[in-house]
Amino acid sequence: MSNFSSDDDVILLKEKLQHSQLVFRDLALKSRREATILKRLISRLIAASQVHDDKVLNERLSQIRRELDTQEDVSRLIPQLALVERMVNRHNQATERAKDSLECQFQQSGETLKCLPGLPAQLKRDLRNLLTSPAAEQKGSTEKIVALLQLYERALKLLSLPSNGLSARDLLNIDRINQLCSELQHLITELDFDGEVGDRLLDIRSRLLLSPDAQTLLELTLESVQLILDGTRNERKASQAFLSQLNEDLSILQRHNGRSIDSSQAIATQRSSLNEELAASVDSIHTHLQDAESLEELRPNLSQVAVNLASLVARNRELEEREQQLMEQLQHNEQKLEALYQQTMDYRRRLGDQERKLLLDPLTKVYNRAALDDRLEHEYRCWIRYQTPFCLAMIDIDHFKSVNDQYGHLVGDKVLKVVARTIHQCLRDTDFIARFGGEEFVILLPDADEETRKALLNNVRETVSRLPFKFKDTRLTITVSIGASLFKDNDNTVDVLERADNALYNAKHNGRNKLVWA
Ligand code: GH3
Ligand code: MG
Ligand code: MG
Repeated sequence: MSNFSSDDDVILLKEKLQHSQLVFRDLALKSRREATILKRLISRLIAASQVHDDKVLNERLSQIRRELDTQEDVSRLIPQLALVERMVNRHNQATERAKDSLECQFQQSGETLKCLPGLPAQLKRDLRNLLTSPAAEQKGSTEKIVALLQLYERALKLLSLPSNGLSARDLLNIDRINQLCSELQHLITELDFDGEVGDRLLDIRSRLLLSPDAQTLLELTLESVQLILDGTRNERKASQAFLSQLNEDLSILQRHNGRSIDSSQAIATQRSSLNEELAASVDSIHTHLQDAESLEELRPNLSQVAVNLASLVARNRELEEREQQLMEQLQHNEQKLEALYQQTMDYRRRLGDQERKLLLDPLTKVYNRAALDDRLEHEYRCWIRYQTPFCLAMIDIDHFKSVNDQYGHLVGDKVLKVVARTIHQCLRDTDFIARFGGEEFVILLPDADEETRKALLNNVRETVSRLPFKFKDTRLTITVSIGASLFKDNDNTVDVLERADNALYNAKHNGRNKLVWA
């Protein structure tokens, strides 16, 4: 019985041994397979990562690769691997330094290109975007350098290729001329002269919208300056005429008043002497009445008193007439004074209007750039003090030039007015809108949390795109692109304006009718 049992144990042990041998063989096979795969992978990685500027490292790596193929026992390679690891670390540090100096060179070359005079605005924008936008930071260094080289090539072509009989410099100048045209055009929009001067300035403005050449631009600039001088002179003359008229009216009034005071004093003196004479007559009647013993005795005295009284009555009437005249004169003076008061109030109102107009854009009736500067400064100070979220957004009408080109600048003006009004209506009472330039607006949204500012700006974009413009039976869809940014850290106003401008540029680049944050 016991024999039987030990035989079973032996069989069981043998089976377990066989099973263990099988498992061990499987494991050995698996690990050899894995080791082969790993060796192959390392070999390929070494082949793929040939370092161009480090021969010693390359040789070491190639040696390891060869030995990996031939050497069965990988652990023998450990000292060599440690050495290579140190070399790779050193190489990585050198690569980092090279990367930094490449980045520095990239920025320097970009700045040098930026300073090249007469570069077209589009090229400048592309360059600025490459140098500053976050998208550029994500690009690989080769991609960035290729992009910079492409910009250099564009600039070089512009500088070296004459076209249409124009020199390269002329071509670059065209861009500058267009920029000057648009600035002059905008300045004229800000002026607000009445009459002939105003009409002629509007005419110049229309001609500036037709992209004139340098000669015409010069002539139009000169004409504008002349008109502005005329307009200012006219306004000065009108003010002087008003003031000298006012002066004259006041001195006449002063003379009249002087005379009225003299005659009222004379009347007062005469009335008091009249009263004294009347009192004396009454006294003499009393005395005669007391002294006289009969009526007959009284008669001659009383008739003398009656003569005196009759003269007093006549002089009194005369005084009353003069008093009446004085009253009329005083009433006349009062009316004249009231008229002068109304005139000065009117003038004051007009001055107030002018003052307000100095801060308003005459075309769109939203605030102008001067007002923006003031308000931005104020809101910036509030932000520094209270640190509530302060958002600035730049809004630019998409393809606005083609609206002018297709329908004329009067339609363009109308579109500008409606878009400005629409944006204004989307804002809260505490927000602010200004026309920043041609077809660009800046809005300030103080104290607006994330949900509010996103909803508000998207609403601006969508509301404008839904405006039902219709010209010559054609439905016209107008859209705007928006670049927005929040004030943060050590920002100043220029930083945020620049960031919003970059975001706007990206919104244009990403297909327009977009809101982009920076
Ligand atoms: P983008 O989508 O890239 O902004 O294209 P765009 O055509 O809107 O931009 P671009 O800067 O090329 O043209 C702006 C035009 O706006 C050029 C200028 O003649 C016109 N403009 C500027 N101010 C006024 C204005 O007061 N009235 C009118 N009618 N047009 C103006
Ligand atoms: Mg535009
Ligand atoms: Mg624009």
